[in-house]
Amino acid sequence: MKRKFVQRRAMLKIKADEAATLDGPALEAQVAEKLGGTFDELVFANAVLAWLADEAAHGADLALAERFSAWAAHTDEGRWSHRGGVLFKPPQRVDPLNLVPLQTDRSAGYSVHTLHHIRRREGFALTDPGMHLAGALGEANYCIWCHEQLKDSCSKGLKEKPAHDGSVAFRTRDARSKSASPNSTSSRPRAGRSARSR
Ligand code: SF4
Repeated sequence: MKRKFVQRRAMLKIKADEAATLDGPALEAQVAEKLGGTFDELVFANAVLAWLADEAAHGADLALAERFSAWAAHTDEGRWSHRGGVLFKPPQRVDPLNLVPLQTDRSAGYSVHTLHHIRRREGFALTDPGMHLAGALGEANYCIWCHEQLKDSCSKGLKEKPAHDGSVAFRTRDARSKSASPNSTSSRPRAGRSARSR
């Protein structure tokens, strides 16, 4: 449901710029009405699966579910609103120079940086209570897809495409910088740094 409907259908059909124009809370209210009055991710997922089994009879329901899903997964407001769930958390790019998101206020003529979310570290234990079961299963499912496609670079390293002779080389830092898109959030600062250092 998360991969096949939210990410591969709703998010591809309704792009981020269009999703930003949607009235998410109104869409959620319409979805909740169809689910019996309140929105619940598991109930929503089961309802969409049932609608998908008979698309001809549920075209309008699925169109509503697509618009709502696109808003919930594409927009900051939607993801924040459903941050406690698992359905509307598409993989996000990592900006290595912005790992700790700051809010910056320059209204006083100088910059004041604040954190909206602080977790105090006491000792060496994790600073969060971990995930609930649905969250853990959602992440594990993503990794299983990754393993099947032999893309699990976390355990095997980043590799180049196979050469003509079938050999496969590991990617180097310079190769990653060169091959990265200039518009890539994660690669832009690194490309600049490595270019200067060469
Ligand atoms: S790279 Fe590793 S951690 Fe990341 S999705 Fe693939 S298997 Fe999971």
